[in-house]
Amino acid sequence: MEQTLSIIKPDAVQKGVIGKIIDRFESNGLRIAAMKKVQLDEKTAGGFYAVHAERPFFGELVSFMTSGPVVVMVLEGENAMAKNRDLMGATNPKEAAAGTIRADFAESIDANAVHGSDSLENAAIEIKFFFSENEVL
Ligand code: ATP
Ligand code: MG
Repeated sequence: MEQTLSIIKPDAVQKGVIGKIIDRFESNGLRIAAMKKVQLDEKTAGGFYAVHAERPFFGELVSFMTSGPVVVMVLEGENAMAKNRDLMGATNPKEAAAGTIRADFAESIDANAVHGSDSLENAAIEIKFFFSENEVL
């Protein structure tokens, strides 16, 4: 059993598609092991995306991620990390395969509906970033 971190980003929360996105996970064998709705501040969003600190789009990324509440989840299941990335689709929704979350619910490379850990190592780090052990059930 693997665990991975998922974030429903401010654009998708604003659109009212939290339930539709969670349905994609649950319908594809991913269990919600932890979940909370939070408003990220600049420090938290910047810390979470610290690997991108030197990228030209870092400022926009942090300002977008703090633009409204997000839903942070731990997804659990067989191959959870890769399965979640498959369900999400490509970073740029215009390149995302039909039927993926980003193809169906995202508008742009900035407002791209969801985040998912990109390796098991990062999944463990990201889960710890948002949840204490007794919140992952
Ligand atoms: P995420 O980490 O959010 O799951 P990802 O792993 O598909 O997305 P990354 O390369 O990690 O993509 O980029 C992190 C986020 O930064 C992307 O989700 C996107 O919102 C933003 N981003 C990435 N590349 C660009 C870009 N060229 N221009 C603007 N924003 C970008
Ligand atoms: Mg990433």
